[in-house]
Order: sequence, then structure tokens, then C-alpha cells
Amino acid sequence: MAQIHHQIVVVGGGAAGITVAASLSRHSDVPLDIAVIDPADHHYYQPAFSLVGAGVCTLSETLRDEESLIPKDVSWIKARVRSFEPETKTVVLTSGNSVTYDYLVICPGLVCKWDAIAGLKDALGREGVCSNYAPDTVEYTWACLKALKPGAKALFTQPAMPIKCPGAPQKAAYLAADYLKRTGIRPHCEVRFFTQTPAIFGVPFYAKELVKVAAGHGIEVHTHHNLVEVDRRARRATFEIVGGDQQGARVSFAYDMLHVTPPQATPDCLKGSPVANAAGFVEVDAGSLQHVKYPEIFALGDAAATANSKTAAAVRRQAPVVVRNLLHLLRGEAVEASYDGYAACPLTTAYGKVLMAEFIYGGKPTPTLPLDPSKERYVNWAITKHGLPRLYWDYMLKGYESFPAHDTSYADPAA
Ligand SMILES: Cc1cc2nc3c(=O)[nH]c(=O)nc-3n(C[C@H](O)[C@H](O)[C@H](O)COP(=O)(O)OP(=O)(O)OC[C@H]3O[C@@H](n4cnc5c(N)ncnc54)[C@H](O)[C@@H]3O)c2cc1C
Repeated sequence: MAQIHHQIVVVGGGAAGITVAASLSRHSDVPLDIAVIDPADHHYYQPAFSLVGAGVCTLSETLRDEESLIPKDVSWIKARVRSFEPETKTVVLTSGNSVTYDYLVICPGLVCKWDAIAGLKDALGREGVCSNYAPDTVEYTWACLKALKPGAKALFTQPAMPIKCPGAPQKAAYLAADYLKRTGIRPHCEVRFFTQTPAIFGVPFYAKELVKVAAGHGIEVHTHHNLVEVDRRARRATFEIVGGDQQGARVSFAYDMLHVTPPQATPDCLKGSPVANAAGFVEVDAGSLQHVKYPEIFALGDAAATANSKTAAAVRRQAPVVVRNLLHLLRGEAVEASYDGYAACPLTTAYGKVLMAEFIYGGKPTPTLPLDPSKERYVNWAITKHGLPRLYWDYMLKGYESFPAHDTSYADPAA
């Protein structure tokens, strides 16, 4: 089996991997030997999937060839990682070949566990069962929405955390309710949102606003409800109650449209890995993103065991920290713990309206614009639809770092 060596190896060429590789090559004073390992042909701007599912933009607008995003001076190893052997600084590929490194950045994201829900794999993509969580199922969400008729029942589900963009499951419900309103049939349709979690959103400051948003749309919210089974033929979704007196009880609801957010996990290469915790997330320091046991390893993005919300916005703030710390190590300097847990979730509460939920570790709201962050606004919609994709493709993935700062001194007037 072949073995090659690179000075810096980045596992995963998604939002995090490309940003780190591009930023490293842009900001280093000396030439670096960097390789990105990723088997994917395509790279998607996943945050726009919520808009694709609501007919606001097309899937092709979210897509680029992976090759076009790999910086010129970075090697692309088009392969899948099978395992990590940190004691020998080796990454093993599924081909059996291996890659050794001086420094390693781990960011293979999260994968959807469609199999974790009985009957879902068979049901998905037909007869009203859709999901914004994958490129091959997201366009069907829009088809399902357009097909709803008076009397329709539309259900939206959210599994246990962590998932990519914890706000995305409810965004789908709000856009659907607003679409039905605009087509005049909202009063004749039922829209329900089911979440495994005890609250509609994990940050209380925003959750209290989102409860009002859901009520304004007439959406019935069912917390503590975890989707466990989809019966395609009967068109019924079954939920298990999580917590409380009814713990473990099952309830089922008929649907005409079922938007499923699947349970998610890190890829198999992290299962039982010496670099990961028991849940499969890479164990790094929350501030420096350096591995707690192997100082030459860093992790960021959805696969890192940090308590931030799993978003591309978090990656935008994490990548400069990883890059600076790698450059510090290369110069023999100490690392800095400067990631504050920033994440942002643009909650599309209707067509033309977004509540921009920005926060750091501990759920402290940290808005970027000097405006009340608890309000739905058109300007946030414009930023989400036009500004953030530009920021992603033309700045973040190209390794630029100067983005507007979030306000860490913001105080909740109601607190
Ligand atoms: C429906 C939806 C809506 C979202 N909305 C928002 C939003 O509004 N705002 C926001 O900021 N974020 C949003 N996100 C989340 C955002 O897309 C992710 O947080 C972000 O992409 C995480 O970056 P990452 O690099 O960790 O993972 P990814 O971008 O998913 O990239 C992971 C990469 O690793 C590769 N990989 C996987 N396994 C291996 C392996 N074994 N070996 C090598 N490579 C591997 C994959 O091919 C992939 O290219 C949304 C996501 C979804 C699905």
C-alpha cells in the first residue's frame, strides 16, 4: 500500500476544509505543503437548501465543482478517510493507502442517518415525503409544497441535536405556512412542527420570539416528539414522546406532506476513533480548537466537539482561529483560545423576512448589525439570500478573513 506525506493534511473539503486550506495558503509567509482529502465531486452551499426547498433559488445555484474550489497551491487527494492513527501521525484511506502529516485538520462534517427512522428510506422522495437536508431530496420539498391542496396536512420534524443548522427544520415550516397563506389556502390546511427537543430553539432569547412566530403562522408546535417511523402506504408519521409522564409513548399523525430532518452523526471514520469522544466528535479545546491530546491536530466545523451551533457561520469564525494557531505552531509560538462559540442561524420566518439569530457559547445574543436582534427583518432576508452566498463563495472559501464583527457586549433589554 502506498504512503505519501504532506506537511498539513485537511480531512474534508467542505465549508471548513476549503476555508482553512485557502486561508493557510493566503496568510502564510512561507510556502506550505497542504493537502485536502475529500472524495466529493461537488460542493454545495448547504445554507441555501432552505431556500431551494421553498422555491426561492435553484439547486444548481448552490453547487460548484469541488475541483474549482481547491486553491492552486493545495493538493487534492480525492479519497475517503477510513481511520486516524494519531500516534503515528497517519490518516488511513478506504483504498488502504495512507497519508502521513506534521499537522492535521479534521473537518468531515455530519452525515444524515436516514436509516435511523423506520420506513424513511423507502418513503423519501415520493408521495409527499421530502427533506431539505440532502441535495437529492431538497427539490422535492418545493414540489410537495406546490402540490398541497385545501384540507392538506403538512408535518415538519426535528430530531435530537446536534444537527446541521438547528434552525433549518423550523424554517421549512414557516416558509410552507407563508406559501400556503400567499396561495390563499392556509386557513384550510394544517401545519405542525414536531421537535425532539424541549424547546423550539436552544437559545432562550430567540426561542421566545420564535414561539410567537410559530403562533402567528398558526403552526402547532409539539416539543418532546421524536419521529421514529414513516408508513408510506398509510401516509402516517409516528413519534415517540421523549421525557415527562408520557416518556416512550407513541402517537401518530396523518400527512400529505412530511418534511423530515434526519438524525445526524459524524462520518464512520470518527466512530471509535482515538481522536474522537464517545459520540464521535473530535475532542478539541472550545477556544483554541486544538486537540486535547494531540497538539498537532485541530478540528472545526460540524464534526468538532464544541458546543456551538453547527453552522457555516461558525466555520467562518473558527477557521481564522485554526489557521492562526497552525501558523503559531509552525513558528514555535503558543496557540491562542480566541473562538467564542459564534454561530448564526438566519431564521427565514416568511418569504422576505429573516430573524438573524447570532449568538456565542452560553447562548448570549451577539448581533452584527446595530439593530434589535429579536426582530424579523427584510434586510436580514436580503443578507441571507444575496449577501451570505457571496460572502461564502468569494471571501470565506477564498481564505479572506475580515468580516464584520459581532457585538459581544450586546445586552438583552429584558434580562
Ligand atoms: C438544510 C441546511 C440548512 C443550513 N442552513 C444554514 C444556515 O442558514 N447558516 C449556516 O451558517 N449554516 C447552515 N447550514 C449548516 C452548514 O452547511 C454546515 O454547518 C457547514 O457546511 C459545516 O461545514 P463542515 O465543513 O463542517 O461540513 P461540510 O460542509 O458538510 O463538509 C464536510 C466535507 O467532508 C467530506 N467528508 C465526509 N466524510 C469524509 C471522509 N471520511 N473522508 C474525507 N472527506 C470526508 C464531505 O464530502 C464534505 O465535503 C445548513 C445545512 C443544511 C443541511
